[in-house]
Amino acid sequence: MGKSKLQIPKVCKYCGNTFLAKTVKTGYCSHQCASSASNDRKKMERRQKVLDKIKAAGTEYITITEALKIFTTSRLTVIRMVHSKNIRCFKTSPKRWFVCVKDLEALFPLRSKPIVVETPKASQVFDMNPKNCYTIGEITKRFGITESSVYKHIRQFSIPIRQIGNYVYAPKKEIDKMYNNKNARK
Ligand SMILES: [Zn+2]
Repeated sequence: MGKSKLQIPKVCKYCGNTFLAKTVKTGYCSHQCASSASNDRKKMERRQKVLDKIKAAGTEYITITEALKIFTTSRLTVIRMVHSKNIRCFKTSPKRWFVCVKDLEALFPLRSKPIVVETPKASQVFDMNPKNCYTIGEITKRFGITESSVYKHIRQFSIPIRQIGNYVYAPKKEIDKMYNNKNARK
């Protein structure tokens, strides 16, 4: 195939900027973004391996130090989530905390970068203020669905999401609308 003169507007999967791609397969705006994405992927794979090992061993609780090696979060966030009862925890000493792997997985999906969602239609204005958003964790709890389904639906319905710190936020209004319609259709 000869060099194509295609210029396809795309959103970089790493930095989220729009750029003109020369092939339909191009996913990144620059070599830098492509290599950062590949590094991220490797990092994620390493983390996934550690997590798989833990799960294969049937371990349900790990120390916070172990948790931080796997999940992209901070000690303070984990401690806060324990206090707010979002993560089950037990202590063998005041300094030795064991936190529930399943809870961590639900709250801190293995991911180092925000997921880039295609820009919504210009006519739509979304309220991305965290106060008016649910976190993905909140959505799974509120509507009783798995995280992967939430992401699937978000993509399906082109609902914008935004990552702040360790949380991915989606506008309450859109999520409510989506799931209420879904229920109504059943
Ligand atoms: Zn980029």
